[in-house]
Amino acid sequence: MDTSRIPGFYNMTVQERLEVLSRLHGLQDEDIENLIIDSSLDVGTADKMIENVIGTFELPLGLGLNFLINGKEYVIPMAIEEASVVASASHIAKIVRNAGGFTTESTERVMIGQIQVVGCSDFILAKEEILQNKSVLLEAANNAYPSIVSRGGGAEDLDVRILNEGSDSVYSQMLIIYLYINTCDAMGANMINTMVESIAPLVEEITKGKVYLRILSNYADRCLAKAHCVISPELLQTGDFSGEEVRDGVIHAYQFAASDPYRAVTHNKGIMNGIDPIVIATGNDWRAVEAGAHAYAARNGQYSSMTNWFKDENGNLVGELELPMSVGTVGGATRVHPLAKFSLDLLGVKSAKELAEVIVAVGLAQNLGALKALATDGIQKGHMALHSRSVAIAAGATGEMIDIIAQELIKEKQIRVGKAKELVEQYKK
Ligand code: NDP
Repeated sequence: MDTSRIPGFYNMTVQERLEVLSRLHGLQDEDIENLIIDSSLDVGTADKMIENVIGTFELPLGLGLNFLINGKEYVIPMAIEEASVVASASHIAKIVRNAGGFTTESTERVMIGQIQVVGCSDFILAKEEILQNKSVLLEAANNAYPSIVSRGGGAEDLDVRILNEGSDSVYSQMLIIYLYINTCDAMGANMINTMVESIAPLVEEITKGKVYLRILSNYADRCLAKAHCVISPELLQTGDFSGEEVRDGVIHAYQFAASDPYRAVTHNKGIMNGIDPIVIATGNDWRAVEAGAHAYAARNGQYSSMTNWFKDENGNLVGELELPMSVGTVGGATRVHPLAKFSLDLLGVKSAKELAEVIVAVGLAQNLGALKALATDGIQKGHMALHSRSVAIAAGATGEMIDIIAQELIKEKQIRVGKAKELVEQYKK
């Protein structure tokens, strides 16, 4: 996409939006059909993806606009049922683009596989033997998945830890092998599991112990992506609130989350409001991303804020978000679900690294959206106005009635299903 600025997009009909997208992105007829027919994932394909299939389950797919990341324009596909998330992300992305946009960076894409060994007569000796046989084990792991090696990835290193050394219980004493694998553009779960399973017999031979678990770790702390933004206060001015007031409110809100797990959980849920929809839209494993992100938020011993907000020496608001981001642009459902393929294409990302960086930038935008609202008007004003349409639908409104009932709910400041039901009854009469 040449631009992610599409003024008035929210006011268009779905058909008009698709026309704009066709012009800007060159949508194919097949893409449009996939986007607007009732089910983009045909039930035959779905039946091959999981077990006991009886149908498919749809979510709204919206576009996060205005994102400028490392000088490149991105339109963000977001699959989510919650109102106000897409609007808030786009609102903040517009502010940040006026401040120069987001900048991002990431580590190499190294994922971790674990092998659990129990019952060794001498755990210290077993650990030494594993380390001495490191190159043999790495070679064996790579032989189990040679195609990733030819792509420039594969098992690169390993580490060993003894857990619960000296414990009285034979169940708790164990040796854990950590296999570090560069998975290139794949999330890598299946290739990692293949590798750790394949070297398990060799590990038993070397340690004289018994192997139980052989599986990846979703705590992908060697596969990190980081986003950063610097915003001058005047860009934050909102209604009667000065930019400095908004900036300070955001920093106070962040400090609350940094110090109190009760607040941190909700603060971080707001970050995942931005991250999950793009992870889902691109066919990635959002449970893996969720689990890794929350574990990373507790890495210093207390569950805390995933983001960091502070004031720099020039009075600017600075935001940072770093998270494990085990996503792929190949593998899993990314090329199986037609809309996942479409979403990756729309994003125009060239690698899993680039996708991971875009995702954390969206998470950072989403967090600022929530903190800015909380520190000024409160979350309900914007959220409930957008939520009113879902309330109207839940009360039985259909077609043009939805917007009429939603407007009435906002006017009467009663965005409740009970009230909406009354209005629907009146409308029908
Ligand atoms: P796949 O098993 O689909 O493997 C990815 C494939 O992509 C590889 O086999 C590789 O095949 C091919 N490929 C093509 N181009 C590249 C490239 N540039 N870089 C890397 N690989 C490339 O998927 P993953 O191993 O990524 O596993 C992800 C799936 O596993 C997800 O669906 C996830 O939900 C699931 N899963 C998750 C678990 C978890 O705990 N989170 C546990 C188990 C499964 P080739 O090299 O031969 O072309």
